[in-house]
Amino acid sequence: MDITLYRLLEKLERERSLSSGEWVRLIEGRDGELARLAAGKADAVRRRIYGNRVYIRGLIEISSYCKNGCLYCGINRDNKNAVRYRLEKSDILACCVKGYELGFRTFVLQGGEDPYFTDDLVCSIVGEIKAMFPDCAVTLSLGEKSGQTYRRYFESGADRYLLRHETADEEHYKSLHPPDMSLENRKRCLFDLKKIGFQAGSGFMVGSPHQTAANLADDMLFLNELEPHMVGIGPFVHHKDTVFADEPSGSVELTLFLISCIRLMLPCALIPATPALGTLDGCGREKGICAGANVVMPNLSPPDARDKYMLYDNKLSSGGESAEGLRQLSENLNKIGYEIEISRGDFRKGMNC
Ligand code: SAM
Repeated sequence: MDITLYRLLEKLERERSLSSGEWVRLIEGRDGELARLAAGKADAVRRRIYGNRVYIRGLIEISSYCKNGCLYCGINRDNKNAVRYRLEKSDILACCVKGYELGFRTFVLQGGEDPYFTDDLVCSIVGEIKAMFPDCAVTLSLGEKSGQTYRRYFESGADRYLLRHETADEEHYKSLHPPDMSLENRKRCLFDLKKIGFQAGSGFMVGSPHQTAANLADDMLFLNELEPHMVGIGPFVHHKDTVFADEPSGSVELTLFLISCIRLMLPCALIPATPALGTLDGCGREKGICAGANVVMPNLSPPDARDKYMLYDNKLSSGGESAEGLRQLSENLNKIGYEIEISRGDFRKGMNC
C-alpha cells in the first residue's frame, strides 16, 4: 500500500480534515486495502458513539410532482413520462400508524417540490403526526424553502430536515441543474435549517455526470464547514427519461469508501446506507453499515405510490412495509454484527464530536 495514503487516512482520523489536494490524492489513490482500513477505522469510531445499533427511519414518499428540473432526477418537471401522484393527509397518517406498529419511531416525509403542499398543509400534517405519536421524530425532505417556511415547519414540530447540497462546485452544480436553481440558495437553505434548530442533513450523489475527484474534495470541505447532523450519500443511478439516461452509474465501492471517510471526518453524524446503494448492490445496505453508516430507511409508502416515485431506474423500494420485511432486514444486520434499535435515533453529540 502507498504509505502516504495510509498517513492521509491517519491524519483524517486524527485531525478530522484534509486539504483539497489531500482529498484528491486519497480518492484517486485508494485501493481495496486502503478502503478496508478506512472501513475498520470508521466502524470503530461509530461503535464508540452509537455502539452496534442501527437506526431505522420509515420513508414516506408524499408526492412525485416537482416544480424543479434537476437534470438527473426521474421526477423532474420536464419528464412527461413520469407518473405523478400525491398522498392525502389521511394516507400519510395511515403510513405512520402502520409504521409505528412495526416499530418505527422516525417518519421521513419526502417529496418533489410540490406547491400543493402549502406551509399550512405541511404544518398540519406534522402537527397531527406529533400529536398522535409524541415519542416519534419527524424528518422533512421537501426541498428548498424560505427561512420563514422552515421556521414554521420547525414550530409545527418537525425535528429534522434532509437537503443534499448535491455538489459544492458551482460549475458542476450548473451542469446538473437548470438555470433557475443555484448552489448559493441550496447552501443558504442548509445554513438556515441549522440556525433554526433542525437536525440538518446534507449530502451528494457519487458518480454524478461530470463529477471529478476535485468536486468530491469540495463536497468533503463543504461538509466539514457545514457540520451537518446527517450526511446522505449514494451512487448516481441513471433514469431512462432524463438527459443522463446513458451516463454510467456511480461506483458502489467509491460510495462505501466515502462513507468511511465521512464517519472519520464527522464522527457523530447520522449516516444512512441509502436506497441507491441497495439498488446497485443486493448487499449495498449491509456494506454501507460495515463501512460506517448507522441508519437505514425502509420504505413505508403505499405500494402503488412507491412504483411511481421513480427517481432513477430500478429504484429499490422494499424492506419496511411489512413485519416480514423488517424481520429480514433485522436478520441481515444481526448476521454482520449489528442490531436494529427501536427509538427516535437522534443525533448524539459524543464527547469527541
Ligand atoms: N425535493 C427534495 C430535495 O430536493 O431534496 C427531496 C426529493 S429529491 C428527489 C431526493 C434526492 O434524490 C436528491 O437529493 C438526489 O440526491 C436524489 N436523486 C435524485 N435523482 C437521483 C439519481 N438519478 N440517482 C441517485 N440519486 C438521485
